Amino acid sequence: IGELDPSMQELVRRRSVLGPCYRLFYQRPLHLVRGVGSHVFDADGTDYLDAYNNIPSVGHCNQRVVDAVTHQMSTLNTHTRYVHENILDYAEDLLSTMPDELDNIMFMCSGSEANDLAVRLAQFISGGEGIIVTKEAYHGNTALISGLSPSIGPNVPMSPTMRMIPTPDTYRLETGDIGGWMCDRISEQISDMRRHGIKFAGVLFDGIFSSDGVFPDDAGFLKPVVDLVHREGGLYIADEVQPGFCRTGDAFWGFQRHGIVPDMVTMGKPMANGIPCSGMAVKHQIIDEYARLYPYFNTFAGSPVAMAAAQATLAELREKNLLQHAHDTGAHLKQAIVEASAASGRIGDVRGAGFFIGAEVVVPGATRPDRLTAVKLVELMREHHVLVSLCGPFGNVLKVRPPLVFSEDDVDIFANALERSLNEL
Ligand code: PMP
Repeated sequence: IGELDPSMQELVRRRSVLGPCYRLFYQRPLHLVRGVGSHVFDADGTDYLDAYNNIPSVGHCNQRVVDAVTHQMSTLNTHTRYVHENILDYAEDLLSTMPDELDNIMFMCSGSEANDLAVRLAQFISGGEGIIVTKEAYHGNTALISGLSPSIGPNVPMSPTMRMIPTPDTYRLETGDIGGWMCDRISEQISDMRRHGIKFAGVLFDGIFSSDGVFPDDAGFLKPVVDLVHREGGLYIADEVQPGFCRTGDAFWGFQRHGIVPDMVTMGKPMANGIPCSGMAVKHQIIDEYARLYPYFNTFAGSPVAMAAAQATLAELREKNLLQHAHDTGAHLKQAIVEASAASGRIGDVRGAGFFIGAEVVVPGATRPDRLTAVKLVELMREHHVLVSLCGPFGNVLKVRPPLVFSEDDVDIFANALERSLNEL
């Protein structure tokens, strides 16, 4: 491989030692070496605007998080079998952002693990097996949760007791009542479970339907859904891995926009700005029942270092007022996308809440998804040094989900790159 150019050499090395499962972004993959705020840099010093990564939500290499981790890592790092104040302080602080009913929180290392425990709880408490998800959902990669994540692809075995409802596609569905529409679809699936002798256990929904194509509106549409789930004896799990931690600009948690109280709330990605840390908040009645039979231990989860990182992230969210910032600057970003794309006719719908925006790349003049153009657009944006990706059942929805420190200047950079990329299609 010595004769290949250096970037190719790295791709060959990657393939040979990491095996074939990992996927890279972009035809010309990026090799990043440094990050600050909402920008990342390659080895040549080229500045890329990160409009996609929701994990470093308080900014790449946020100094406060770096300092908290460094301090705790050089003091002590253990696990939840010893008493430590970090986990208690953080748990109390985080629960104060939630409705009173959600009064216990447990920690894991990934969103998958959080969902895994939540689904097991729903099944245990309901005495059923049947879980409902949306058609393009992604909830994680454990054996249990990958069986509830149809977006992974047709070769991954789906749980035989799982049922899907279609994407709540407010752009294409002709209904003024998306909540009622979802209730009808859920009722159909519960009936189908009954016909197959499966007892309904609950639903697992990402409240912004991110892999389904980003459907946040109208806020409140999940209220009748929760009521229905409870009437049917199921539990409602809010997967807040995507909409949580101020992302939507309307409320700290995505479910709060809908005025609902889930039975369990799972969270991850942005929680500790990149240090592995996830959680599951739950009503104590539920976890008390479960704990009679089952203990829980997770080696790295809730460690003093993870908790220090999470606490510093929470402090940054508050002190920099990133909820309000996501609301205001997110609205500007959405408007800028509408304006930058108007002339091209290629973007049929721009929707979103705060810093989570989906833009439908369509055949001009129609609502028909245009996946090929969407893929080209993402590649062109990369050439203009702006990083975004795609989602949705047709893979044509531009997914714009930057770190929450994304600035007004970043909005201009983004809009400029989008306009130029659309012109070059
Ligand atoms: N739920 C949702 C909605 C997600 O988007 C993801 C990750 N993309 C997960 C769960 C799984 O999280 P993790 O990769 O940390 O296991």
